[in-house]
Amino acid sequence: MHGAGGIKPAGSGRTGRLVLICRAQGRIMARCYAISSRRPQGTRSSPGHQVEGNLVRPTQPFDMKRRATRSVRVGSVTIGGGAPVSVQSMTKTHTEDVEATLAQIGELAALGCEIIRCAVPNRKAGAALREITRGSPLPVVADIHFDHRLALAAIEAGADGVRINPGNMRDRDGIREVYRAAGEAGIKVRIGVNSGSIRPRRGLEVRGGAGGKELADLMVREALAYCQAAEEESFGDIVLSLKASDVPTTIAAYRRAAGLCDYPFHLGVTAAGPAATSLVKSAIGIGALLAEGIGDTVRVSMTGPPHEEVRAGIAILQALGLRAASGPEIISCPTCARCEIDLSALVEEIGRRVQDGPAGLKIAVMGCMVNGPGEAAEADVGIAGGRDFGYLFRGGKKVRKVPAAGLADALMDEIEKARPTRGVPQG
Ligand code: SF4
Repeated sequence: MHGAGGIKPAGSGRTGRLVLICRAQGRIMARCYAISSRRPQGTRSSPGHQVEGNLVRPTQPFDMKRRATRSVRVGSVTIGGGAPVSVQSMTKTHTEDVEATLAQIGELAALGCEIIRCAVPNRKAGAALREITRGSPLPVVADIHFDHRLALAAIEAGADGVRINPGNMRDRDGIREVYRAAGEAGIKVRIGVNSGSIRPRRGLEVRGGAGGKELADLMVREALAYCQAAEEESFGDIVLSLKASDVPTTIAAYRRAAGLCDYPFHLGVTAAGPAATSLVKSAIGIGALLAEGIGDTVRVSMTGPPHEEVRAGIAILQALGLRAASGPEIISCPTCARCEIDLSALVEEIGRRVQDGPAGLKIAVMGCMVNGPGEAAEADVGIAGGRDFGYLFRGGKKVRKVPAAGLADALMDEIEKARPTRGVPQG
């Protein structure tokens, strides 16, 4: 446990290097690691690090310096301190239904989720946590509101961490008791301050996004005061979150806090809505912060199955080059009046047929000879369509002309032959 270090200025730093790829069934851009052990280890890439020999390649052309933070352990997963950014989600079963909850955790683990959070709204759920922590392949964080005694019960039940919002717990002594118990158990506490818990108490406007900066400042001030109270109990294994339901306030809050403390951050936009809305808000909110080097673990909030949250979190990390590709990447054009082949059907077929293809393989499927050859030549393999035919490219070179009806098969032949052409393997 960290000592009573107080609030410290943040600096900057870089992560170490480790790439191990496991492949599992799933989508091309969001497929991820098969995790069978209780604590997943070392299955992610670090910034700017790709392996060509194993078909995992560079995707990060800008210099991303991760914010320097203290490191906090959650089970065997490290958050902060330069550790790879982890993906987490929350179960959406009733926690007291141990069988259903463990089944869902298993599914999420197979998709690549690395930390799981379970709501503990009552004593029954707290009691179920003991069995869940024993059976879970992932570190389990108990999500507690209002009643500090539930947090104590969760710690006693073997949770790897608890998430609290001290703002909605009245018993100040009780909260201090939680920090002491977490310290004794050697587990982390996430202090999560949400915009929704600040606005009503501070009398801020809810509508219109007015006062976003003021709200962000209040969130940070409150959160750091809570952290200070924990440090006074000699407890410093804190992960901080400052989620608002709008993107600008979320970004402003994390940015501000990044300059005022060295706690690792759990990133997310809270109550981000259904899939389409959540994907946009989360990709912008989480993505913008990660691109600035801010953020150590992410949770995409989405109305819907938690599986999509995990897929989205992984896709955000992969898009920024913070996680190695776990499958091939298809680059396809949106089509326009110049397109003279059935590109949508071709992309759909190729996508289906390459699901188990090599991680990081770039496949360009382009509709015409205007922009097509350039994109196709930059990919490992590619097609640029023409009238009733297409040109095949491999390793940046045009290799042959194929009738439209045979394009999918011909491209699959080239994919089989494709080998990476750039870079040096790293380990
Ligand atoms: S590659 Fe050709 S068909 Fe596709 S969008 Fe561009 S111009 Fe249109």
